[in-house]
Amino acid sequence: MSNAHPKPGPSRLIRRAPLVLGTTLLLSLSISSYYLSPSKPSFGQTYTPALLLSHTQPTPHTSLFRLRLLRPPKPGGPFYALWVRSPVLQIEREFTPLRGLEGKGDEVELWVKREGEVARYLAGRKVGDEIGVRGWSPGVQWEDQHWDEVIMISGGTGIIPFYQLMDHLFLNPRSPTPPGSGKTKFTLLHAAPVPEELPPASMLGPLGELQRSQPDKFRLRLFVDSAPSGAREHLVGGAALPLTVRRIQPYDIWLALGLSPPTQQTFFSRFRFRSVSPPAAKDPSRKVLFLVSGPEGMVQAFAGPRARDLTEGQVGGVLGGMGYGRGEVRKL
Ligand SMILES: Cc1cc2nc3c(=O)[nH]c(=O)nc-3n(C[C@H](O)[C@H](O)[C@H](O)COP(=O)(O)OP(=O)(O)OC[C@H]3O[C@@H](n4cnc5c(N)ncnc54)[C@H](O)[C@@H]3O)c2cc1C
Repeated sequence: MSNAHPKPGPSRLIRRAPLVLGTTLLLSLSISSYYLSPSKPSFGQTYTPALLLSHTQPTPHTSLFRLRLLRPPKPGGPFYALWVRSPVLQIEREFTPLRGLEGKGDEVELWVKREGEVARYLAGRKVGDEIGVRGWSPGVQWEDQHWDEVIMISGGTGIIPFYQLMDHLFLNPRSPTPPGSGKTKFTLLHAAPVPEELPPASMLGPLGELQRSQPDKFRLRLFVDSAPSGAREHLVGGAALPLTVRRIQPYDIWLALGLSPPTQQTFFSRFRFRSVSPPAAKDPSRKVLFLVSGPEGMVQAFAGPRARDLTEGQVGGVLGGMGYGRGEVRKL
């Protein structure tokens, strides 16, 4: 007697069709109910699964991820982050959602440099995979309308908290500040190694448009350490954003503050970056906040080193030399 199962004939397949259809339906229902079921713990301070919806690589060293979270609450304000865990190494890292919750109010987009264990773990996931996340993790306490001037200095992916702030204040339809009503003027000085590593068009496009539509509220300056192609502009959609080809200098901070520095050449020769600070340039009648976010060397150069316990520590660097202190300079 043969052990081989007889092949099902067409009539047998037809008889089994309701069973196959039923199983498929049950499977899809269980996948969707996974994300809807009230018995699943909601997104919060313990790890819950998030669904990876998309993954693209907008620059040579970075990825954009879109994740669906399990019933996330609205973050309290700007400067919130999300913890992502690598189950392989049992380590976690903070990443900053670009904007408020999208989709059905449960999606976040992360821009991530593919450097470090958790970023590489994320980069290895496929659409449809689940990722362990928790949040929200609060950052700088933000007070709308408190400042006359906010100067943001960023390098690389350090721009993300600033994009989140601009989205919170201006770009999002749910922004608390109706365009033009706030008194605060924002300047963003952003640096990248080369034009190809500047933020993706989905970030620079809205920022460029904000500068065009509200130049009295927001200014953007882009810096690249080098531009091998000789580019002096960065094209985003139809707009050309000017590029300055050198690192951000104290001179640029004077310009952002609306001060009249000596000529660029004199300024550079007298106040070389990181050797001599420019003189105190503080107008006590104006409330100015500096936010610095980028590689540690950049944070140190502008705002001084962090304390031993990795808290912000004293203000030093260029801004300390200009007379700004704690509360006026924040190291992100
Ligand atoms: C709360 C929080 C949230 C974070 N969220 C994210 C996130 O969502 N995604 C992510 O990828 N990372 C995130 N990070 C990590 C952080 O943004 C990066 O580690 C850091 O900004 C390094 O950026 P980079 O490697 O892209 O910069 P680089 O590409 O190394 O440098 C960018 C530019 O900085 C300037 N620069 C560098 N060194 C110096 C120096 N010594 N002096 C002056 N200028 C200098 C140069 O012009 C350079 O081109 C987060 C960090 C924190 C604290």
